[in-house]
Amino acid sequence: MQVISSAVQKQMENASWIRRMFEKGIELKHQLGADKVFDFSLGNPDIPPPARAREALLNITENAVKPMGLGYCPNAGLPVFREALASWLTKQQHTELTGAHIIVTCGAAGALTAFFRAVIEPGDEVMCPAPYFVEYGAYCGHFGGVLKPVPSLAPSFQPDLAAMEAAITEKTRAIIINSPNNPTGCVYSQETLTRLGQLVDRVNATRERPLFLISDEPYRFLAYDGVTIPPVLPVSPFAVVMGSFSKSLSLAGERVGYVVVNPVMPDAALLVNAVTMTNRTLGFVNAPILGQRLAMELLNEGVDLSIYDRRRKAMAKVLADAGIEFTMPQGAFYFFPKAPGGDDQAFVAELVKYNVLAVPGRGFGFPGYFRLSFSVEEKVIAGSAEGFAAAAKNF
Ligand code: PLP
Repeated sequence: MQVISSAVQKQMENASWIRRMFEKGIELKHQLGADKVFDFSLGNPDIPPPARAREALLNITENAVKPMGLGYCPNAGLPVFREALASWLTKQQHTELTGAHIIVTCGAAGALTAFFRAVIEPGDEVMCPAPYFVEYGAYCGHFGGVLKPVPSLAPSFQPDLAAMEAAITEKTRAIIINSPNNPTGCVYSQETLTRLGQLVDRVNATRERPLFLISDEPYRFLAYDGVTIPPVLPVSPFAVVMGSFSKSLSLAGERVGYVVVNPVMPDAALLVNAVTMTNRTLGFVNAPILGQRLAMELLNEGVDLSIYDRRRKAMAKVLADAGIEFTMPQGAFYFFPKAPGGDDQAFVAELVKYNVLAVPGRGFGFPGYFRLSFSVEEKVIAGSAEGFAAAAKNF
């Protein structure tokens, strides 16, 4: 009996490495006790939202208990929130925006899915630098899109622009970039972005059906050492920015994100209308109304980055002491070190023997490395030191 579709069956068989390691973590914690397991597998923001969230929530709930206070809202988001986002994003993206260029979505994940639904024909290719956030394949695959990863330049993890240009075909519908990056923590330089924009414009000069440059930016505000994230909208008329408040406000469960369409893109209004419709018809309908109001109240706030930064430094010390090679992440909350011995799966299996859980790089399309999320308490990082050192010694 075939209860589920063959495509979904296939996706389930290839269950993500993150999921597998997370489940291994639950099993180990059950057997040994949570304090004996050092789980770096999941990127779930664990630090509290900004302190003002309490007061904001009280105001919001008070106002919500009235007719339509918790009702459907316009599919593209609360008009007042779209306008607030427009002013906020105008400064961030160095581009004059109004609410008409913005669709509020259920996180960056909902933004990507609604956008792919709006632009992809079956067989279209979506290019991304590898390593990459593995859900991209599913998000475009739902509509017949095919993910085409192109390896980045290790150990800097800047994209290999020459290789990307060489891999573009007439089927390439979008290039998706993610800076600060999951899983490497790399931040793309202004020069890289400018050259990417030029590449996209060169391709678009030769075609009717445009190539989009999608910038997936949920980690925009998680950057360290004074690093700033250059804006992507100015680099090409076909740039589209997506982001969310999942990480910057620790609001991941409230599912609030956005798509920003470049105002200078030909047919920008048509694209906004199309994504507004797909956001509705995919079943998202509209982003959660309380989440939108909360994000609006907290738009100029952020989580306490010094907590992540302390963990980043502690993790770097643990890895350096163990003799494991890594590039210091400039953003997000991940390390992507080199697997001692070169076999990421074997090294991750060795770490499990010391109750340390990591995700092999092959789970992100980049074998030979492994990912550690430092969205964990500092005591987990400290407790893992012996395990890392012992595992590395065996390779
Ligand atoms: N893009 C990247 C690179 C991510 O790491 C994530 C979540 O971890 C998302 C998108 C989706 O985030 P959200 O939908 O919560 O904004």
